[in-house]
Amino acid sequence: MSTPPSGGPAAPDHAKAARAVAPVICYPTSTLPQPDLALYTRARAAARKTGEEQVPPREARCIPVRAGQFLRISCPEGAQVGDLNLWNLANLSERFYSGKTRALHGTHLSVGDRMWSSFPHLRPLATVTADSLAWYGTDSFGGRVHDVIGTRCDPYTHHLLSGQDYHHCCHSNLTRALADWTGQGAEAAEPLVHDVLNVFMCTGFTADTGQYFMKATPARAGDYIELFAEIDLLAGLSACPGGDCGAEHSSDVAQCHPLLCEVFAPPAAALEGWQSPPVNGYDRSHGL
Ligand SMILES: [Zn+2]
Repeated sequence: MSTPPSGGPAAPDHAKAARAVAPVICYPTSTLPQPDLALYTRARAAARKTGEEQVPPREARCIPVRAGQFLRISCPEGAQVGDLNLWNLANLSERFYSGKTRALHGTHLSVGDRMWSSFPHLRPLATVTADSLAWYGTDSFGGRVHDVIGTRCDPYTHHLLSGQDYHHCCHSNLTRALADWTGQGAEAAEPLVHDVLNVFMCTGFTADTGQYFMKATPARAGDYIELFAEIDLLAGLSACPGGDCGAEHSSDVAQCHPLLCEVFAPPAAALEGWQSPPVNGYDRSHGL
């Protein structure tokens, strides 16, 4: 917040000096293991399509993506935001950790950034290998594309703010899709749904109040983002009821389009030199 609330404490003598201190990057990424993007590019060029899943508007679907395969997410019919969850296919409790990914790579992801998994695993689940919206950069409002800020639209916040019940928020869509995949029902699936990568969504924080904002995605029919699966994954994708998220979400008002998930598998030889990452090396004794 740039303006302190009235009646708050007066600025101390060191206020000017304190504000002038230069920031330090919390987690310099120079010490992270770097992805071999040249290898991924060669592998992608040799890959063949092995599967696809259409995600209808205001619904979600799950699709497995094996380690070494590529997941391409596109909006073939028009501007549409997608909310993406990733799980370890063999252990759904290991899942995408949006907050730590944000701390490591920043508020929005593009080529070369990884999607990290939850504790105690903390390893790359996927690497962004292609992004047709990389040209967008940062607009004059501070908006960027593909954020790891927003959590996912959900019926609880909607009820809190409006008193209404709506059943096609991304949280509920992902819950139904995962329940359908596991066959274990919504009660078991819901706790496994987690904070998302907001595919195609254009967001930022307002300069004056620091509030989370959204604006219509610059995505057009045919735009895409591609991920390389570092381990065996189950991907869950919701076509957000906000459509292009230019006005509102959590309702049936916005025009929505389907999303398309496609899986591409390279020949094994094209991945020579790449290894699926092991789980985090911390010994988990926590000083005990
Ligand atoms: Zn949503």
